[in-house]
Amino acid sequence: MPNTLPVPHVAVVGAGLGGLAAAGVLLRAGATVDVYEQAPVLGEAGVGMHLGSNGSRLLFRWGLEEALRAVAVRPDALEVRAPDGRLLVRRPMGDTWEKEYGAPHLTVLRSDLHALLADRVPSGRIHLGARLKSVAEDGDGVRLRFADGRQTSADLVVGADGVHSVVRRAVAGEERPVFSGSSALRGVVPAADVPGLAPDTMYMWVGPEARLLVAPVDAGRRLTYVAVLPETGLVEESWSATGEAAALAAAFDGWHDDVSSMVRAAGTPGRWALYDREPLPYWGRGRTTLLGDAAHPMLPHHGQGAGQALEDAVALAHFVDGTPDGLRRYEEFRRPHTTRVQLGSRGGGARKARPAGDAPAGGAGGGLQQVVDDLSWVHHYDVEAALVESAAGAQRGRPARTSEAADV
Ligand code: FAD
Repeated sequence: MPNTLPVPHVAVVGAGLGGLAAAGVLLRAGATVDVYEQAPVLGEAGVGMHLGSNGSRLLFRWGLEEALRAVAVRPDALEVRAPDGRLLVRRPMGDTWEKEYGAPHLTVLRSDLHALLADRVPSGRIHLGARLKSVAEDGDGVRLRFADGRQTSADLVVGADGVHSVVRRAVAGEERPVFSGSSALRGVVPAADVPGLAPDTMYMWVGPEARLLVAPVDAGRRLTYVAVLPETGLVEESWSATGEAAALAAAFDGWHDDVSSMVRAAGTPGRWALYDREPLPYWGRGRTTLLGDAAHPMLPHHGQGAGQALEDAVALAHFVDGTPDGLRRYEEFRRPHTTRVQLGSRGGGARKARPAGDAPAGGAGGGLQQVVDDLSWVHHYDVEAALVESAAGAQRGRPARTSEAADV
Protein backbone atom coordinates (compact mmCIF):
# COMPACT_ATOMS: atom_id res chain seq x y z
CA MET A 1 0.00 0.00 0.00
CA PRO A 2 1.16 3.58 -0.56
CA ASN A 3 4.16 4.55 1.53
CA THR A 4 4.21 6.92 4.46
CA LEU A 5 7.88 7.89 4.11
CA PRO A 6 8.97 11.42 3.03
CA VAL A 7 8.13 12.43 -0.53
CA PRO A 8 10.93 11.25 -2.83
CA HIS A 9 12.27 13.30 -5.72
CA VAL A 10 12.29 11.00 -8.75
CA ALA A 11 14.12 11.68 -12.02
CA VAL A 12 12.52 9.81 -14.91
CA VAL A 13 14.80 9.52 -17.94
CA GLY A 14 12.79 9.38 -21.19
CA ALA A 15 9.43 10.91 -22.05
CA GLY A 16 8.15 8.01 -24.15
CA LEU A 17 4.94 6.16 -23.35
CA GLY A 18 6.50 4.45 -20.33
CA GLY A 19 8.27 7.50 -18.87
CA LEU A 20 5.20 9.72 -19.13
CA ALA A 21 2.92 7.04 -17.69
CA ALA A 22 5.33 6.63 -14.77
CA ALA A 23 5.59 10.37 -14.20
CA GLY A 24 1.78 10.65 -14.18
CA VAL A 25 1.23 7.97 -11.56
CA LEU A 26 4.24 8.94 -9.44
CA LEU A 27 3.00 12.53 -9.26
CA ARG A 28 -0.42 11.30 -8.15
CA ALA A 29 1.23 9.05 -5.56
CA GLY A 30 2.76 12.19 -4.07
CA ALA A 31 6.31 12.04 -5.45
CA THR A 32 8.14 15.04 -6.85
CA VAL A 33 8.99 14.14 -10.44
CA ASP A 34 11.19 15.56 -13.19
CA VAL A 35 11.29 13.95 -16.64
CA TYR A 36 14.39 14.29 -18.85
CA GLU A 37 13.92 13.71 -22.58
CA GLN A 38 16.64 13.84 -25.22
CA ALA A 39 14.36 15.04 -28.02
CA PRO A 40 14.08 18.82 -28.46
CA VAL A 41 10.32 18.52 -28.96
CA LEU A 42 7.88 16.31 -27.09
CA GLY A 43 6.15 13.86 -29.40
CA GLU A 44 5.93 10.38 -30.89
CA ALA A 45 5.96 8.81 -34.32
CA GLY A 46 2.42 8.76 -35.66
CA VAL A 47 2.32 5.03 -36.37
CA GLY A 48 -0.38 2.86 -34.88
CA MET A 49 -0.27 0.37 -32.04
CA HIS A 50 -2.45 -2.16 -30.27
CA LEU A 51 -3.47 -1.58 -26.71
CA GLY A 52 -4.60 -4.76 -24.97
CA SER A 53 -7.19 -4.90 -22.19
CA ASN A 54 -4.47 -4.95 -19.52
CA GLY A 55 -3.36 -1.50 -20.72
CA SER A 56 -6.71 0.07 -21.60
CA ARG A 57 -8.17 -0.75 -18.16
CA LEU A 58 -5.38 1.27 -16.51
CA LEU A 59 -5.87 4.25 -18.80
CA PHE A 60 -9.61 4.17 -18.08
CA ARG A 61 -8.90 4.18 -14.34
CA TRP A 62 -6.71 7.23 -14.87
CA GLY A 63 -9.77 9.06 -16.20
CA LEU A 64 -8.77 8.81 -19.86
CA GLU A 65 -11.61 6.59 -21.12
CA GLU A 66 -13.57 9.25 -22.96
CA ALA A 67 -10.52 10.89 -24.51
CA LEU A 68 -9.03 7.54 -25.50
CA ARG A 69 -12.21 6.18 -27.05
CA ALA A 70 -12.52 9.43 -29.03
CA VAL A 71 -9.20 8.93 -30.83
CA ALA A 72 -8.81 5.13 -30.81
CA VAL A 73 -10.79 2.40 -32.54
CA ARG A 74 -12.33 -0.62 -30.83
CA PRO A 75 -12.24 -3.14 -33.68
CA ASP A 76 -15.33 -5.32 -34.05
CA ALA A 77 -13.49 -8.32 -35.39
CA LEU A 78 -10.15 -9.82 -36.35
CA GLU A 79 -10.08 -11.59 -39.70
CA VAL A 80 -7.20 -13.87 -40.57
CA ARG A 81 -6.88 -14.44 -44.29
CA ALA A 82 -4.68 -16.48 -46.61
CA PRO A 83 -2.58 -14.66 -49.24
CA ASP A 84 -5.33 -15.29 -51.83
CA GLY A 85 -7.88 -13.58 -49.55
CA ARG A 86 -9.61 -16.74 -48.29
CA LEU A 87 -11.08 -16.14 -44.84
CA LEU A 88 -9.39 -18.58 -42.49
CA VAL A 89 -10.94 -17.45 -39.28
CA ARG A 90 -12.95 -14.53 -37.92
CA ARG A 91 -12.79 -13.69 -34.24
CA PRO A 92 -15.40 -11.29 -32.83
CA MET A 93 -13.79 -8.48 -30.84
CA GLY A 94 -15.76 -5.36 -29.82
CA ASP A 95 -18.35 -6.10 -27.12
CA THR A 96 -17.44 -9.78 -26.97
CA TRP A 97 -13.83 -8.99 -26.15
CA GLU A 98 -14.66 -6.17 -23.75
CA LYS A 99 -17.05 -8.38 -21.80
CA GLU A 100 -14.57 -11.24 -21.68
CA TYR A 101 -11.61 -9.15 -20.50
CA GLY A 102 -13.36 -6.30 -18.71
CA ALA A 103 -11.76 -3.68 -20.95
CA PRO A 104 -11.47 -3.28 -24.71
CA HIS A 105 -8.72 -4.05 -27.17
CA LEU A 106 -8.01 -0.70 -28.85
CA THR A 107 -5.96 0.37 -31.83
CA VAL A 108 -4.54 3.86 -31.54
CA LEU A 109 -1.91 6.16 -32.98
CA ARG A 110 1.12 6.26 -30.69
CA SER A 111 1.11 10.05 -31.02
CA ASP A 112 -2.49 10.20 -29.71
CA LEU A 113 -1.72 8.00 -26.70
CA HIS A 114 1.49 9.91 -26.05
CA ALA A 115 -0.41 13.23 -26.03
CA LEU A 116 -2.94 11.87 -23.51
CA LEU A 117 -0.14 10.71 -21.20
CA ALA A 118 1.79 13.98 -21.61
CA ASP A 119 -1.29 15.93 -20.52
CA ARG A 120 -1.03 14.25 -17.12
CA VAL A 121 2.39 15.75 -16.46
CA PRO A 122 2.84 19.52 -16.00
CA SER A 123 5.02 20.76 -18.87
CA GLY A 124 7.33 22.49 -16.40
CA ARG A 125 8.36 19.06 -15.10
CA ILE A 126 9.42 17.80 -18.55
CA HIS A 127 12.92 18.89 -19.55
CA LEU A 128 13.54 18.62 -23.28
CA GLY A 129 16.86 18.41 -25.13
CA ALA A 130 18.24 16.61 -22.08
CA ARG A 131 20.22 13.61 -23.36
CA LEU A 132 21.48 11.62 -20.41
CA LYS A 133 25.16 10.69 -20.60
CA SER A 134 25.78 9.16 -17.22
CA VAL A 135 24.19 8.35 -13.92
CA ALA A 136 26.08 7.70 -10.67
CA GLU A 137 25.24 7.39 -6.97
CA ASP A 138 26.38 10.37 -4.99
CA GLY A 139 25.94 10.32 -1.21
CA ASP A 140 22.21 9.89 -0.51
CA GLY A 141 21.14 10.60 -4.06
CA VAL A 142 21.94 10.00 -7.72
CA ARG A 143 23.74 12.44 -9.99
CA LEU A 144 22.65 12.71 -13.63
CA ARG A 145 24.86 14.28 -16.29
CA PHE A 146 23.53 15.36 -19.67
CA ALA A 147 25.20 15.75 -23.05
CA ASP A 148 24.85 19.56 -23.00
CA GLY A 149 26.72 19.82 -19.70
CA ARG A 150 23.64 20.10 -17.47
CA GLN A 151 23.73 18.19 -14.19
CA THR A 152 21.08 17.42 -11.65
CA SER A 153 20.44 15.03 -8.79
CA ALA A 154 17.49 13.12 -7.43
CA ASP A 155 16.64 10.63 -4.68
CA LEU A 156 15.76 7.96 -7.26
CA VAL A 157 16.30 7.49 -11.00
CA VAL A 158 13.96 5.59 -13.29
CA GLY A 159 15.47 4.65 -16.65
CA ALA A 160 12.57 4.79 -19.10
CA ASP A 161 14.93 5.56 -21.95
CA GLY A 162 13.93 2.76 -24.28
CA VAL A 163 15.69 -0.09 -25.99
CA HIS A 164 19.06 1.73 -26.21
CA SER A 165 18.88 2.77 -22.57
CA VAL A 166 21.87 4.56 -21.07
CA VAL A 167 20.51 3.78 -17.60
CA ARG A 168 20.28 0.06 -18.40
CA ARG A 169 23.94 0.13 -19.46
CA ALA A 170 24.83 1.71 -16.11
CA VAL A 171 22.90 -1.04 -14.34
CA ALA A 172 23.81 -4.08 -16.43
CA GLY A 173 26.85 -3.16 -18.55
CA GLU A 174 27.16 -3.79 -22.29
CA GLU A 175 24.93 -6.47 -23.82
CA ARG A 176 24.38 -8.02 -27.17
CA PRO A 177 21.04 -7.34 -28.84
CA VAL A 178 19.33 -10.55 -29.98
CA PHE A 179 18.23 -10.41 -33.62
CA SER A 180 14.95 -12.16 -34.43
CA GLY A 181 15.70 -12.68 -38.11
CA SER A 182 12.79 -10.43 -39.12
CA SER A 183 12.10 -6.80 -39.84
CA ALA A 184 8.87 -4.88 -39.50
CA LEU A 185 7.88 -2.37 -42.16
CA ARG A 186 5.14 -0.12 -40.91
CA GLY A 187 3.26 3.09 -41.47
CA VAL A 188 -0.13 4.74 -41.68
CA VAL A 189 -2.32 5.42 -44.74
CA PRO A 190 -5.69 7.15 -45.24
CA ALA A 191 -8.48 4.58 -44.88
CA ALA A 192 -10.01 5.91 -48.12
CA ASP A 193 -6.97 4.62 -50.05
CA VAL A 194 -7.90 1.00 -49.32
CA PRO A 195 -11.66 1.01 -49.88
CA GLY A 196 -12.06 -2.79 -49.89
CA LEU A 197 -11.46 -3.05 -46.14
CA ALA A 198 -14.22 -2.73 -43.55
CA PRO A 199 -13.44 0.27 -41.31
CA ASP A 200 -14.09 -1.58 -38.04
CA THR A 201 -12.08 -4.74 -38.72
CA MET A 202 -8.47 -5.78 -38.07
CA TYR A 203 -6.97 -7.92 -40.81
CA MET A 204 -4.06 -10.29 -40.83
CA TRP A 205 -2.92 -11.91 -44.06
CA VAL A 206 -0.53 -14.73 -43.33
CA GLY A 207 1.82 -16.50 -45.70
CA PRO A 208 4.58 -19.02 -45.08
CA GLU A 209 7.20 -16.26 -44.71
CA ALA A 210 5.57 -12.83 -44.54
CA ARG A 211 2.49 -11.49 -42.85
CA LEU A 212 0.63 -8.22 -42.95
CA LEU A 213 -1.46 -6.83 -40.11
CA VAL A 214 -3.76 -3.87 -40.81
CA ALA A 215 -5.91 -2.05 -38.24
CA PRO A 216 -8.01 1.11 -38.21
CA VAL A 217 -6.74 4.03 -36.06
CA ASP A 218 -7.43 7.76 -35.68
CA ALA A 219 -11.16 7.21 -35.07
CA GLY A 220 -11.26 5.15 -38.29
CA ARG A 221 -9.83 7.84 -40.56
CA ARG A 222 -6.54 6.00 -41.09
CA LEU A 223 -5.17 2.48 -41.25
CA THR A 224 -1.98 1.36 -39.57
CA TYR A 225 -0.06 -1.51 -41.14
CA VAL A 226 2.80 -3.71 -39.99
CA ALA A 227 4.43 -6.14 -42.39
CA VAL A 228 6.79 -8.67 -40.82
CA LEU A 229 9.33 -10.00 -43.30
CA PRO A 230 12.31 -12.33 -42.94
CA GLU A 231 15.72 -10.64 -43.09
CA THR A 232 18.55 -12.53 -44.72
CA GLY A 233 21.38 -10.54 -43.12
CA LEU A 234 21.95 -8.65 -39.89
CA VAL A 235 20.55 -5.14 -40.12
CA GLU A 236 21.04 -2.04 -38.03
CA GLU A 237 18.92 -1.83 -34.90
CA SER A 238 17.11 1.44 -35.40
CA TRP A 239 13.69 2.92 -34.93
CA SER A 240 14.13 5.51 -37.63
CA ALA A 241 15.46 3.62 -40.67
CA THR A 242 13.52 3.95 -43.89
CA GLY A 243 12.11 0.80 -45.42
CA GLU A 244 11.88 0.15 -49.12
CA ALA A 245 8.59 0.28 -50.95
CA ALA A 246 10.10 -2.29 -53.33
CA ALA A 247 10.71 -4.77 -50.47
CA LEU A 248 7.09 -4.46 -49.44
CA ALA A 249 5.86 -4.91 -53.01
CA ALA A 250 8.08 -7.95 -53.58
CA ALA A 251 7.03 -9.65 -50.33
CA PHE A 252 3.33 -9.42 -51.17
CA ASP A 253 3.49 -9.84 -54.93
CA GLY A 254 0.52 -11.89 -56.16
CA TRP A 255 -1.43 -11.61 -52.87
CA HIS A 256 -5.09 -10.61 -52.77
CA ASP A 257 -6.22 -7.27 -54.30
CA ASP A 258 -6.81 -5.72 -50.87
CA VAL A 259 -3.19 -6.47 -49.95
CA SER A 260 -2.00 -4.97 -53.26
CA SER A 261 -4.06 -1.80 -52.61
CA MET A 262 -2.59 -1.57 -49.13
CA VAL A 263 0.96 -1.96 -50.46
CA ARG A 264 0.37 0.67 -53.16
CA ALA A 265 -1.04 3.09 -50.57
CA ALA A 266 1.84 2.41 -48.19
CA GLY A 267 4.43 4.48 -50.06
CA THR A 268 7.78 4.35 -48.22
CA PRO A 269 7.36 2.51 -44.94
CA GLY A 270 9.38 2.92 -41.75
CA ARG A 271 11.57 -0.06 -41.03
CA TRP A 272 12.33 -1.70 -37.68
CA ALA A 273 14.83 -4.53 -37.55
CA LEU A 274 13.35 -6.67 -34.79
CA TYR A 275 15.80 -7.09 -31.93
CA ASP A 276 15.26 -7.77 -28.27
CA ARG A 277 17.55 -8.54 -25.32
CA GLU A 278 17.83 -11.45 -22.93
CA PRO A 279 15.80 -10.81 -19.77
CA LEU A 280 17.97 -9.24 -17.05
CA PRO A 281 18.38 -11.03 -13.72
CA TYR A 282 18.02 -7.63 -12.01
CA TRP A 283 16.78 -4.21 -13.10
CA GLY A 284 18.49 -1.90 -10.70
CA ARG A 285 21.28 -0.98 -8.36
CA GLY A 286 21.01 1.26 -5.36
CA ARG A 287 18.73 4.19 -6.16
CA THR A 288 18.36 3.39 -9.85
CA THR A 289 15.81 1.20 -11.60
CA LEU A 290 14.39 0.56 -15.08
CA LEU A 291 10.94 0.62 -16.66
CA GLY A 292 9.39 -0.21 -20.04
CA ASP A 293 11.63 -1.16 -22.96
CA ALA A 294 14.73 -0.21 -20.96
CA ALA A 295 13.85 -3.01 -18.53
CA HIS A 296 12.34 -5.60 -20.88
CA PRO A 297 12.74 -4.85 -24.60
CA MET A 298 10.47 -7.30 -26.38
CA LEU A 299 9.55 -8.27 -29.92
CA PRO A 300 6.23 -6.76 -31.04
CA HIS A 301 4.48 -10.10 -31.72
CA HIS A 302 2.28 -9.81 -28.62
CA GLY A 303 1.62 -6.04 -29.10
CA GLN A 304 2.50 -5.61 -25.44
CA GLY A 305 5.56 -3.35 -25.07
CA ALA A 306 3.56 -0.28 -24.11
CA GLY A 307 1.02 -2.23 -22.05
CA GLN A 308 3.81 -3.71 -19.95
CA ALA A 309 5.30 -0.22 -19.46
CA LEU A 310 1.94 1.05 -18.15
CA GLU A 311 1.78 -1.85 -15.69
CA ASP A 312 5.38 -1.13 -14.60
CA ALA A 313 4.37 2.48 -13.88
CA VAL A 314 1.53 1.41 -11.58
CA ALA A 315 3.72 -1.07 -9.71
CA LEU A 316 6.56 1.44 -9.35
CA ALA A 317 4.25 4.07 -7.85
CA HIS A 318 2.91 1.42 -5.46
CA PHE A 319 6.32 0.46 -4.09
CA VAL A 320 8.23 3.71 -4.33
CA ASP A 321 9.16 5.04 -0.89
CA GLY A 322 12.40 6.91 -1.54
CA THR A 323 14.59 3.96 -0.60
CA PRO A 324 16.50 1.41 -2.71
CA ASP A 325 14.46 -1.32 -0.96
CA GLY A 326 11.25 0.06 -2.47
CA LEU A 327 12.79 -0.16 -5.92
CA ARG A 328 13.90 -3.76 -5.33
CA ARG A 329 10.35 -4.70 -4.27
CA TYR A 330 9.02 -3.15 -7.50
CA GLU A 331 11.53 -5.13 -9.55
CA GLU A 332 10.81 -8.40 -7.75
CA PHE A 333 7.11 -7.91 -8.33
CA ARG A 334 7.38 -7.08 -12.04
CA ARG A 335 10.30 -9.16 -13.35
CA PRO A 336 8.65 -12.62 -13.44
CA HIS A 337 5.62 -11.22 -15.28
CA THR A 338 7.48 -9.16 -17.87
CA THR A 339 10.02 -11.94 -18.44
CA ARG A 340 7.20 -14.27 -19.31
CA VAL A 341 5.70 -11.77 -21.77
CA GLN A 342 9.13 -10.94 -23.18
CA LEU A 343 10.04 -14.57 -23.86
CA GLY A 344 6.51 -15.37 -25.06
CA SER A 345 6.76 -12.58 -27.62
CA ARG A 346 9.71 -14.33 -29.23
CA GLY A 347 7.87 -17.42 -30.34
CA GLY A 348 4.29 -16.40 -30.02
CA GLY A 349 1.67 -13.98 -31.09
CA ALA A 350 0.75 -13.66 -34.71
CA ARG A 351 3.60 -15.93 -35.78
CA LYS A 352 1.58 -18.93 -34.67
CA ALA A 353 -1.32 -18.00 -36.93
CA ARG A 354 0.84 -18.85 -39.92
CA PRO A 355 -0.85 -21.59 -41.96
CA ALA A 356 1.24 -24.69 -42.55
CA GLY A 357 1.51 -25.08 -46.32
CA ASP A 358 -1.95 -25.59 -47.78
CA ALA A 359 -3.53 -26.25 -44.41
CA PRO A 360 -7.31 -26.11 -44.47
CA ALA A 361 -9.10 -23.34 -42.61
CA GLY A 362 -9.20 -25.45 -39.46
CA GLY A 363 -5.39 -25.58 -39.38
CA ALA A 364 -4.93 -21.84 -39.40
CA GLY A 365 -7.93 -21.42 -37.12
CA GLY A 366 -6.21 -23.72 -34.65
CA GLY A 367 -3.19 -21.45 -34.91
CA LEU A 368 -5.29 -18.37 -34.20
CA GLN A 369 -6.94 -20.05 -31.25
CA GLN A 370 -3.46 -20.69 -29.91
CA VAL A 371 -2.64 -17.00 -30.36
CA VAL A 372 -5.70 -16.07 -28.31
CA ASP A 373 -4.90 -18.71 -25.67
CA ASP A 374 -1.29 -17.56 -25.54
CA LEU A 375 -2.36 -14.03 -24.81
CA SER A 376 -5.51 -14.36 -22.73
CA TRP A 377 -3.59 -14.36 -19.42
CA VAL A 378 -1.85 -11.14 -20.50
CA HIS A 379 -5.14 -9.36 -21.29
CA HIS A 380 -6.85 -10.63 -18.13
CA TYR A 381 -3.98 -9.44 -15.95
CA ASP A 382 -4.91 -6.56 -13.68
CA VAL A 383 -1.74 -5.17 -12.13
CA GLU A 384 -3.64 -3.33 -9.39
CA ALA A 385 -5.49 -6.50 -8.34
CA ALA A 386 -2.19 -8.39 -8.40
CA LEU A 387 -0.62 -5.76 -6.13
CA VAL A 388 -3.48 -6.09 -3.64
CA GLU A 389 -3.17 -9.86 -3.71
CA SER A 390 0.58 -9.64 -3.32
CA ALA A 391 0.22 -7.35 -0.27
CA ALA A 392 -2.33 -9.72 1.27
CA GLY A 393 -0.03 -12.68 0.61
CA ALA A 394 2.90 -10.84 2.22
CA GLN A 395 0.78 -10.11 5.30
CA ARG A 396 -0.09 -13.78 5.59
CA GLY A 397 3.62 -14.52 5.32
CA ARG A 398 3.34 -16.15 1.92
CA PRO A 399 5.57 -15.17 -1.00
CA ALA A 400 3.96 -12.65 -3.37
CA ARG A 401 1.97 -14.25 -6.17
CA THR A 402 3.55 -13.64 -9.54
CA SER A 403 2.31 -14.45 -13.02
CA GLU A 404 4.43 -17.61 -12.83
CA ALA A 405 1.81 -18.93 -10.45
CA ALA A 406 -1.15 -17.24 -12.10
CA ASP A 407 -3.92 -19.17 -13.82
CA VAL A 408 -3.34 -19.23 -17.55
P1 FAD B 1 10.30 4.43 -25.82
O1 FAD B 1 8.95 4.60 -26.40
O2 FAD B 1 11.39 3.99 -26.72
O3 FAD B 1 10.69 5.83 -25.17
C1 FAD B 1 12.00 6.08 -24.71
C2 FAD B 1 12.19 7.60 -24.61
O4 FAD B 1 13.45 7.85 -24.02
C3 FAD B 1 12.18 8.29 -25.97
O5 FAD B 1 11.37 9.43 -25.93
C4 FAD B 1 13.65 8.63 -26.19
O6 FAD B 1 13.84 9.78 -26.99
C5 FAD B 1 14.12 8.85 -24.76
N1 FAD B 1 15.56 8.65 -24.57
C6 FAD B 1 16.32 7.64 -25.07
N2 FAD B 1 17.59 7.77 -24.67
C7 FAD B 1 17.64 8.89 -23.89
C8 FAD B 1 18.69 9.54 -23.19
N3 FAD B 1 19.96 9.09 -23.21
N4 FAD B 1 18.40 10.67 -22.48
C9 FAD B 1 17.12 11.16 -22.44
N5 FAD B 1 16.09 10.57 -23.12
C10 FAD B 1 16.35 9.44 -23.81
N6 FAD B 1 3.80 -1.99 -28.18
C11 FAD B 1 2.49 -2.13 -27.91
O7 FAD B 1 2.09 -2.04 -26.74
N7 FAD B 1 1.58 -2.39 -28.92
C12 FAD B 1 1.97 -2.50 -30.22
O8 FAD B 1 1.14 -2.72 -31.11
C13 FAD B 1 3.36 -2.37 -30.53
N8 FAD B 1 3.80 -2.50 -31.79
C14 FAD B 1 5.11 -2.37 -32.05
C15 FAD B 1 5.55 -2.57 -33.37
C16 FAD B 1 6.91 -2.46 -33.68
C17 FAD B 1 7.38 -2.70 -35.08
C18 FAD B 1 7.83 -2.13 -32.64
C19 FAD B 1 9.30 -2.00 -32.95
C20 FAD B 1 7.40 -1.95 -31.33
C21 FAD B 1 6.04 -2.08 -31.03
N9 FAD B 1 5.57 -1.93 -29.72
C22 FAD B 1 4.26 -2.09 -29.46
C23 FAD B 1 6.49 -1.69 -28.60
C24 FAD B 1 6.32 -0.31 -27.99
O9 FAD B 1 6.45 0.65 -29.00
C25 FAD B 1 7.37 -0.08 -26.91
O10 FAD B 1 7.37 -1.17 -26.03
C26 FAD B 1 7.07 1.18 -26.11
O11 FAD B 1 7.17 2.30 -26.94
C27 FAD B 1 8.07 1.31 -24.98
O12 FAD B 1 7.92 2.56 -24.35
P2 FAD B 1 9.14 3.15 -23.53
O13 FAD B 1 8.66 4.44 -22.99
O14 FAD B 1 9.71 2.14 -22.62
O15 FAD B 1 10.29 3.41 -24.61
